[in-house]
Amino acid sequence: IMAIVVPCYNEHEVIRDTNKKLMYLINKLINDTIINSNSYIYYVDDGSEDETWSIIKNICSNEKNIKGMKLSRNFGHQNALLAGLSKVDNKCDFVISIDADLQQDIEAIPKMINEYNLGSEIVFGIRNKRKGETIFKRFFSDAFNKIMKLSGSSIIKDHADFRLMGNKALNALLEHHEDNIFLRGLIPKLGFITSEVKFDQKERL
Ligand code: UDP
Ligand code: MG
Repeated sequence: IMAIVVPCYNEHEVIRDTNKKLMYLINKLINDTIINSNSYIYYVDDGSEDETWSIIKNICSNEKNIKGMKLSRNFGHQNALLAGLSKVDNKCDFVISIDADLQQDIEAIPKMINEYNLGSEIVFGIRNKRKGETIFKRFFSDAFNKIMKLSGSSIIKDHADFRLMGNKALNALLEHHEDNIFLRGLIPKLGFITSEVKFDQKERL
């Protein structure tokens, strides 16, 4: 069983399109018997002020493979993602986290599943170098990585929160009861077999 966790904050403009693309992928993977037919998407509405939640409720109502919850207020991306991960904990074999705008290429998902099947408990999505990325932006993103390393985090270069985690790794992650959680810094330190899958970052829809 695959779960896909999608944190959503004021995403009413993209969520239907995102849902269509993710459901198309899930159905294809089910048909190819790569994943179990009870696989699902789990939307976390992070206190949106727009129509996001009513759209989620609507798409959930006629699809057994779509679930969701709404947080009481806006908690921020990392907390929304963590809330979703804790909801699917022990209710899937592995979970994939992805942004609602699908800037991360969903074509990488079958590759991640393949790595999982080959024995990786965590698979990191790694952005290919962006075309048109300024030296300026690159400088700051490199500097950020260096500072995070100095502060004890094992940050993975060009990885955001697009990743696969097996349920074992998920259990281990959720044993940390931290308030100010930075998943990207914590997950590489859990100590499981990991691998990487490259993808092209897209423009925000
Ligand atoms: N997000 C969230 N809570 C927030 C801000 C963002 O859940 O307070 C979600 C957002 O809907 C998206 C993901 O986190 O699915 C990443 O946000 P965004 O695309 O704005 O970030 P960026 O692409 O700039 O990293
Ligand atoms: Mg984005």
